[in-house]
Amino acid sequence: MPVPEHNRGPRGFYGPTDSVDPKRLIPGVTVRRYTETIPGGRLDVIAPCCGRMARLDGDWMHDAHLVLCAACARTYDVQILDENDGGFGAEFVVRDERPVLVRRRGVVSWLAGQHPAG
Ligand SMILES: [Zn+2]
Repeated sequence: MPVPEHNRGPRGFYGPTDSVDPKRLIPGVTVRRYTETIPGGRLDVIAPCCGRMARLDGDWMHDAHLVLCAACARTYDVQILDENDGGFGAEFVVRDERPVLVRRRGVVSWLAGQHPAG
């Protein structure tokens, strides 16, 4: 029986049609996802954690991208792969950072009072 694609890398590899339990998105895990080119020469990629979109600008084919999902507080290194069929894939590698997200204003507290909204 062939080795499942999931077990290829030391930390795990998920193909573009594999669903991934967010608990398995530990640092080093690689996830491939499909992309969509959009007018203006940009590229939409889908975050593995929750399916939200990130829109890449500039020379997205050759740049390395640091992508942050502000909903899930996850960070990824993203590289674009030419599928040689007219389409592009995105390879997400989960990073170590788990940033602490800034929350909305409006909390009534001594601290919030030190920085009144503009
Ligand atoms: Zn997310």
